Amino acid sequence: MEIDLELLDYLCHKGVHHIEAAVRGHQHLPRTVVGVGTFLLDHDGNVDLLTAKQLVTFDKFLKPLLFDVPCLGPTGTGDCRGDGRIEPELLPKAYRDDELLCGRCRNEPS
Ligand SMILES: [Zn+2]
Repeated sequence: MEIDLELLDYLCHKGVHHIEAAVRGHQHLPRTVVGVGTFLLDHDGNVDLLTAKQLVTFDKFLKPLLFDVPCLGPTGTGDCRGDGRIEPELLPKAYRDDELLCGRCRNEPS
């Protein structure tokens, strides 16, 4: 599992609202999740260095944001034309443009 450090850096700083949204309704605080993210940034994304507790936080909140982001589809209602997931290489752009679309939905507008 190779963490995209640039993407993680974005999520921990400029894109922190994505973390806040993910944490909403859970007992974790955004700053706890950002803390784990910052730790990873300081350690080249080496998850082996996380404590058991940090790892739980990582798996629950950061991993889905880094590796498993659902495509909302062209109309934003989940009607994805691809496989329902945004390709990892498109994630930085998707987050930045606030357009959570996979490559297929991006290229075939409704
Ligand atoms: Zn899609």
